[in-house]
Amino acid sequence: MSSGFDEYSGFDGADEDSLRTERAKARQLRKTRWWQQKSAAGTCYYCEQVVGFKNLTMDHLVPLARGGRSRKDNLVPCCKECNNRKKNMLPLEWEEYLDQQQGRSIP
Ligand SMILES: [Zn+2]
Repeated sequence: MSSGFDEYSGFDGADEDSLRTERAKARQLRKTRWWQQKSAAGTCYYCEQVVGFKNLTMDHLVPLARGGRSRKDNLVPCCKECNNRKKNMLPLEWEEYLDQQQGRSIP
């Protein structure tokens, strides 16, 4: 899994230091009232399933690895399943992925 990472080394949005800073910021935001209110309903932002507060994770709409930041407007509650699937996709790529999934289930 380590190969291929070097491709991103020229990308200034995701150096180790800023990643660490942004992760720390996300952890801090997780403790705030803002996040509690946002995730209290227990609803996943992406699939809109109610999975319960405890099963929600904090997800970056634009992943940190893609230059996203730990800001309130870039953080959403999502279920573990969506988090696993989304990984480092950009919102646009993720939407396309969801469209594909839906397209498959429609006859
Ligand atoms: Zn979900």
